[in-house]
Amino acid sequence: MGLRRTAATPLGRLLDIHFGADLSPWTAGRESALYWVLNDTVRGVLVTVDPVRGEWLLEIPALTPEEERTYFEGEVDHHRLIEAAIGAPREAIEGLRIHSVRNWVMGSTGLESWRSADGRVLAAGDAAHTFPPTGGFGMNTGIQDAHNLAWKLAAVLRGGAPEALLDSYERERRPVAEFNARHSEVNALQKRALLQSDADPQEFARTIEDHRPHFDFEGQTLGFTYEPGPGESVVQDVVTYRPTAEAGHRAPHAWLDRAGDRISTTDLSRTGFALLTGAEGADWEQVAKENPTFMGLPLTAAVITTDGPELRAVGGAFADAYALKGTEAVLVRPDGHVLARLPGTAPRRELGQAADRIVNGGPVPARAQEPS
Ligand SMILES: Cc1cc2nc3c(=O)[nH]c(=O)nc-3n(C[C@H](O)[C@H](O)[C@H](O)COP(=O)(O)OP(=O)(O)OC[C@H]3O[C@@H](n4cnc5c(N)ncnc54)[C@H](O)[C@@H]3O)c2cc1C
Repeated sequence: MGLRRTAATPLGRLLDIHFGADLSPWTAGRESALYWVLNDTVRGVLVTVDPVRGEWLLEIPALTPEEERTYFEGEVDHHRLIEAAIGAPREAIEGLRIHSVRNWVMGSTGLESWRSADGRVLAAGDAAHTFPPTGGFGMNTGIQDAHNLAWKLAAVLRGGAPEALLDSYERERRPVAEFNARHSEVNALQKRALLQSDADPQEFARTIEDHRPHFDFEGQTLGFTYEPGPGESVVQDVVTYRPTAEAGHRAPHAWLDRAGDRISTTDLSRTGFALLTGAEGADWEQVAKENPTFMGLPLTAAVITTDGPELRAVGGAFADAYALKGTEAVLVRPDGHVLARLPGTAPRRELGQAADRIVNGGPVPARAQEPS
């Protein structure tokens, strides 16, 4: 397909032992996604794969050349490593059964271009980028890729948008994948340094707090933007998610009441584009009636007020998150990201500009002015 890989950044070799066992005698009362194992035989992590069925992954990095030889060149007694990690002889570990063992090189890889020269193949997921699992972003990033690409393919195939729309896929997704790659690499290097340190368990536990962005990353998961300002990162704060309805960001969740049903603002764009507007935005309803599709996909308008007959904001969350002024509308894409904030002074023209903007990466429409 002519898709060329960029040079990989190897970050060390690991031994993974995937096994089944009832570890409840050791984990009951201290259930966790991840257990650090630090003793004379094993320095690594025990990952909870499925606590109900009792499935685990013992992941041991080779931290020294000697460990490289021990784990990858000689005969390894994998049961003995499990015994050492659990701190019990194999007879005492009920149901112990090794499913698979593999060694692998951790690192990041990428593609020079995510689209083949003939334009017919677009790469997503691990085909486009891989990075260390430290942070757990590989599959998340791949799913986000698919989410971003699916509606664009539909729009182009239905003839509602020019093929150039597909170029926005890599333009938007590559910076996010690259951010996640760099962040996962930093996590991997810090984790390795932690496992190599001589810290005793108490000191080790205290140090974990310094690694918060490795394990607590709501800002990275939900807060990335497809429209960072000049020189700005796609993620401003890895740990804290601050919802904002500015263009490029994920349209914030706020509870709404629709004829007695509790729905989320994020439900409104599930099947197409949605224009979210306030009490003064009734014109948008008319525009959506006249134009039931936008870029070939369904377009709906939602007038959200505090006391409307159909769609009511529950509490002040919608007003706070969307901060709509006058006739302004927030145009949300089918992947839940904000395409544009439209002032509502010339709605039809503003919609056309929003389409041009994503296809051509063109200018941002003017923001609504403060009411004078
Ligand atoms: C130890 C470890 C822990 C991880 N933990 C996390 C985590 O906590 N969270 C997270 O988000 N991600 C995690 N990941 C990353 C995640 O597993 C991957 O990013 C994800 O599986 C990639 O999905 P994918 O569909 O892009 O590719 P794959 O899962 O690789 O799927 C590609 C599929 O295509 C098939 N295939 C290949 N060639 C062909 C062909 N020619 N014809 C037909 N089929 C073909 C393959 O067999 C495979 O089934 C982890 C990875 C590792 C190694």
